[in-house]
Amino acid sequence: MRLLLQQGYEVAVVDDLSRGYRHNVPPGCLYQLSLVETNALTELMRQTACEAVIHFAGLISVGESMREPERYLANNVGGSLSLLTAMVQAGVKHLVFSSTAAVYGNPHTTPILESFPIQPVNPYGESKVMVETMLRWFDQIHRLTNISLRYFNASGADPEGRLGEEHEPETHLIPLVLRAVMTGEPATIFGNDYDTPDGTCIRDYVHVDDLAQAHILAVEHLLGGGASDQFNVGTGTGHTVLEIIRAVEEVTGKKVPYLWGARRDGDAASLVAASGKLRGKLGWNPKYTGLSTIVEHAWNFASKGGRRS
Ligand code: UDP
Repeated sequence: MRLLLQQGYEVAVVDDLSRGYRHNVPPGCLYQLSLVETNALTELMRQTACEAVIHFAGLISVGESMREPERYLANNVGGSLSLLTAMVQAGVKHLVFSSTAAVYGNPHTTPILESFPIQPVNPYGESKVMVETMLRWFDQIHRLTNISLRYFNASGADPEGRLGEEHEPETHLIPLVLRAVMTGEPATIFGNDYDTPDGTCIRDYVHVDDLAQAHILAVEHLLGGGASDQFNVGTGTGHTVLEIIRAVEEVTGKKVPYLWGARRDGDAASLVAASGKLRGKLGWNPKYTGLSTIVEHAWNFASKGGRRS
């Protein structure tokens, strides 16, 4: 939202605040609605003369989805269907959708191309596949053009330290490792026997500002008459969990206390993007590709106690 406003767009934010916070949105921009309130969404889109929607409103934890699949299907799939229905009712023709690398499941090789088989290994990934499938039909039947951005590991924070990760409960690696540094309570590494150089999982960590910029490029592509498509959003470089811990130690100058735990259900060993399609077709050019910058920005936010305190 910050980048959209900076780049001259008018923005209305819809959030039911079940996982988000009012303080992250400038006053006057927030409409507290749930995605399942189809007619209220239609009305809002009509009132605001909405031209395009960016749909981030999903539950995002692999582990939680393995315990409560029904919740993921109801929210991520049912909520998206309601939103798409509202868009059709209001005549809004363009959507950018937050999808995930989890649509690929456990790919046989990396880096992962967008053309790789879609075979999720957890209900979270499956819920995103189902929405991508719906989107194909909404394009074909209603001419609702759309871009699915398959996020790899969104990380870092606003470089100025005003916005950062605030999940409750927190499940993501970098904020948990930073918390371990601050509290002395050990972080847990999920598994040390993966088929990777140090036995811990490999992920492709992409800075949240670069991820945000990908959304703007996608909106502009669609508003300019571009066709529906799917893109990976990752840097093309993978890091193991132990490499993250070392980067946190370097940035903070402190030892990270950690324990070894069991593998987390639903985790793939290695997820690294092939990022050439997004760079080539939409001109994406990430600014913050180094792990140390990502960790520095996350630390800058976390060490101030996050925004809420
Ligand atoms: N991870 C970990 N301990 C934690 C949280 C995450 O070892 O407390 C690992 C997890 O198994 C995965 C990587 O860190 O390999 C990134 O996990 P995260 O939940 O941040 O993102 P995901 O890859 O699930 O989207």
